[in-house]
Amino acid sequence: MFPPFLSFSMSENVSSPSVSPLRRIGATLLQWIDSDHTPEGPEKMRAEPDKVDWMRCIPFIILHLGCLGVIWVGWSPFVVWTAVALYFVRMFAVTGIYHRYFSHKTYSTSRVGQFLLALWGGTTVQRGGLWWAYHHRHHHQHSDDPEDAHSPHVHGFWWSHIGWITSRRNFPTDYSKVKDLAKFPELVWLNRFDTVVPILFAVAIYYTGEFLSHAAPSLQTSGAQLLVWGFFISTTFLFHGTSCINSMAHLMGKRRFATTDDSRNSFILAIICLGEGWHNNHHRYQSSTRNGFYWWEIDPTYYGLKLLSYTGLIWGLKPVPKSIMEEAARADHLATIAAAQKAVHAHPDYSYGTLKKVVPAAAAIAVATAATAQSALPKKADDPAIHRDVTEETHNMAKKNPPPVTPGT
Ligand SMILES: [Zn+2]
Ligand SMILES: [Zn+2]
Repeated sequence: MFPPFLSFSMSENVSSPSVSPLRRIGATLLQWIDSDHTPEGPEKMRAEPDKVDWMRCIPFIILHLGCLGVIWVGWSPFVVWTAVALYFVRMFAVTGIYHRYFSHKTYSTSRVGQFLLALWGGTTVQRGGLWWAYHHRHHHQHSDDPEDAHSPHVHGFWWSHIGWITSRRNFPTDYSKVKDLAKFPELVWLNRFDTVVPILFAVAIYYTGEFLSHAAPSLQTSGAQLLVWGFFISTTFLFHGTSCINSMAHLMGKRRFATTDDSRNSFILAIICLGEGWHNNHHRYQSSTRNGFYWWEIDPTYYGLKLLSYTGLIWGLKPVPKSIMEEAARADHLATIAAAQKAVHAHPDYSYGTLKKVVPAAAAIAVATAATAQSALPKKADDPAIHRDVTEETHNMAKKNPPPVTPGT
C-alpha cells in the first residue's frame, strides 16, 4: 500500500542515526495521517530527549504562512467577524470540552454527546481529545517539575509556548493515562486520525465562502478569503491564545493559593481564554466546572457550559466545594493584610496626606471585621494532593454522575 521507504518493522528505531533521513521523513509523514503510527513504539519515542523536530514544525509553519494569504484575498467585515466568532466558538471547545470535560470530567454527558463534543473539539486543530487530555493530566501531576512538558520555569518561555509540541517525545498519546476515554473506540479513532476533522472543517469553510459569494454577493467574500480568515488566521490566534495558558499562566498574575506549582490568576488571560486565566484557582481545585471562583472572576466557559446544560446535552456540573471557598477567603484575607503592611513600609507616616491616612484606617477596620468573621472558619480541609491524579478521579465518573431521569431539567 505504501512505498518501500514507508514500511517499517516494529522494532526499528526511526530516530536512531542509522536510519536514513528519507525513512525518517516517511515515518513523520505517515504520522500526520495516523498519529498512532510509531514504528519504534510509543514508550521509546517518549523516552527520547527533548529536541525540536523540524519535520513536526511544518504544520505550524503552513498554518502561519496561510495567514499571509490575506495579501491576495483581502478582507471584508464579514470575514473578520467570522474569524473572531470562530476563535471564540473554538476557544470554548478547547476550554469547555478538551479541558473541562476530556481532561478533568467536570461534568457528564451521554456517549453520543461525548462524540459530538469530540467533533467540536477537533475543529480547534489541537490534535485529538485523548492526546490533549493525556498531556494536560500529566501537566497537573508534574506541574513545574522537570517532568512537566511545558513548564516555562523548567524549559523557558518559548519551549512552553510552542517548542514542546514539536518534540517527538510529546507526540504519542499515552492511552494508559486516559483509560476512561480510551474505552470508547470512536474517541480513539478521532484521536488517531486527528487531521480528519480539521481538514473537513477547512473544506467546509472554503465551500461556505464559495456558496456565499454567489448567494450573498453583498458580503463581498469568496471561498479563498473565508478560508484565510476563518481557518488560517482564526486558528493561528486560537493556537497562540491557548498556548498562553501553558506559558503565561505560570508567569503572569497573582497567586491566591500556595499550590506546589507557580500557577497564577490573570484577568487578561481569562478574557483571551474564556475563563482559563484563573489558573491558580484551577490548580488548587481541578474538579469543578468553573475556574472563576467569584462572580467578578469572569468565566465565559462556565457560563456557556451552564447554558449547554439547559439543553440536556450535558449535566452534573461540579461546584467548588465549600472547604475550597473558605480556603480562598482565608487566602484573600491574609493577602489583604500583607498588602496593607507593605503599604505602611512603603509610605512612612510623614508622607501621608489626610485622605491617605483615612483610607488605610478604613481598610484596617474592614480587615479586622473580616478577621473576626473568619476566625470561626475551620482550618484547611482539603489535601491538594488528592486532585493531582486526575485519571483516578475520572474513573468513577459514571457512578458518581448518572444521567438525570429527565435531561435538561
Ligand atoms: Zn498549569
Ligand atoms: Zn487543568
